[in-house]
Amino acid sequence: MLVQTYKDMLGAKSVIRDLAGAAVERGKEIGYENVFDYSLGNPSVPVPQEFTDTMIKLLQETDTLTLHGYSPSLTIPSVREKVAESLERRFGIPYKMQHVFMTSGAAGAIAHAVRLVTEPGDEVLTFAPFFPEYHPYVDLSGAVLKVVPPRFEDFQINFEKAEEMLTEKVMAVLINTPNNPTGVVYSEETLKKLAELLTKKSKEYGHIIYLITDEPYREIVFDNKTAACPSKFYDHSIMCYSFSKSLSIPGERIGYVAINPACAEAETLINMCGQISRGIGHNCPSSIIQLAVAECVDMTADLSVYEKNMNLIYDELKDLGLTIVRPGGTFYIFPKAPEEDAKAFSKKALKYDLILVPADTFGAPGYFRMAYCIDTEKVERSLPVLRKFIKENY
Ligand code: PLP
Repeated sequence: MLVQTYKDMLGAKSVIRDLAGAAVERGKEIGYENVFDYSLGNPSVPVPQEFTDTMIKLLQETDTLTLHGYSPSLTIPSVREKVAESLERRFGIPYKMQHVFMTSGAAGAIAHAVRLVTEPGDEVLTFAPFFPEYHPYVDLSGAVLKVVPPRFEDFQINFEKAEEMLTEKVMAVLINTPNNPTGVVYSEETLKKLAELLTKKSKEYGHIIYLITDEPYREIVFDNKTAACPSKFYDHSIMCYSFSKSLSIPGERIGYVAINPACAEAETLINMCGQISRGIGHNCPSSIIQLAVAECVDMTADLSVYEKNMNLIYDELKDLGLTIVRPGGTFYIFPKAPEEDAKAFSKKALKYDLILVPADTFGAPGYFRMAYCIDTEKVERSLPVLRKFIKENY
């Protein structure tokens, strides 16, 4: 018999993927350059030359059995060491090799983090609007994802509701900063307040509530700022990172889990990652990719285009009178649709070859997301079309 859980998932297709598919189909008719496709969060800037050079050097100079062999079950020690050194240098938290485990992107990191600290039936709390993939990440571990409603004025945390929903069943809180889909970066004030709440509730319930921090957009922050590091504010934190967006290498599937050294039984948790990895068939990212990112751990692609695109789109949307919070980072922007039904709005936009994602599945109905990881030239061409669409319909 086929397993119903996965069979049911076939019926719940991703709106984002559907729209991206529609964009490609339309592209076949009018040329993809004429479709203003703001659907997918796929990096659009080139991979840094240094990363390519590192891969070439590894292939030319490293012995093939090391390069293509099995990774140690806790991932490659020299790689873990380089990641830990970088984290310590950047954030002043004394990470060591034994606090780091390399994973298949942030998705792999979250899969491990959730399994580390929840039993089936336990709750994981997250905050809307949220990355819809959190459902499969959490649901298929057996834990239950609970979603705190948004704080619309600035998309920081809705603490009133969070406190209400932080019941004894919650074993972990999952945050994403800088945030997909809003582009908002959590302030230090938000992170401190969250840490205080978790400390208070952990004491009250007599068990640790872990903080899982999903940070694939950490390096994409605007206005010459940096994102506050959530782990600095809470000991029992599990950082989930990915090189997908910072180095433009999402297909390489590489990231890591870093457990705060001050977290209870930090080293045991990392050792447990090795066991989870066996159980879910993860069995570590490929050795060559681990070795390559270790050489590029503090490097990023030229990410400046995202800020340029954001400013162009933000100014236009603001001028059109849409309700919008200015993104502090990422390559997403999250305006309120000028009609209540964002799905209907998105459907109307399709007639103008504008691909805008309605945000119902992000937990914020009435809003839509634009992923502006596309060429600036295309953003510029899309703006008059966007204006026409809004003016003619609203
Ligand atoms: N978390 C968020 C918020 C994301 O936007 C993404 C990817 O888009 C992921 C996790 C997964 O990242 P990766 O593809 O590196 O596993």
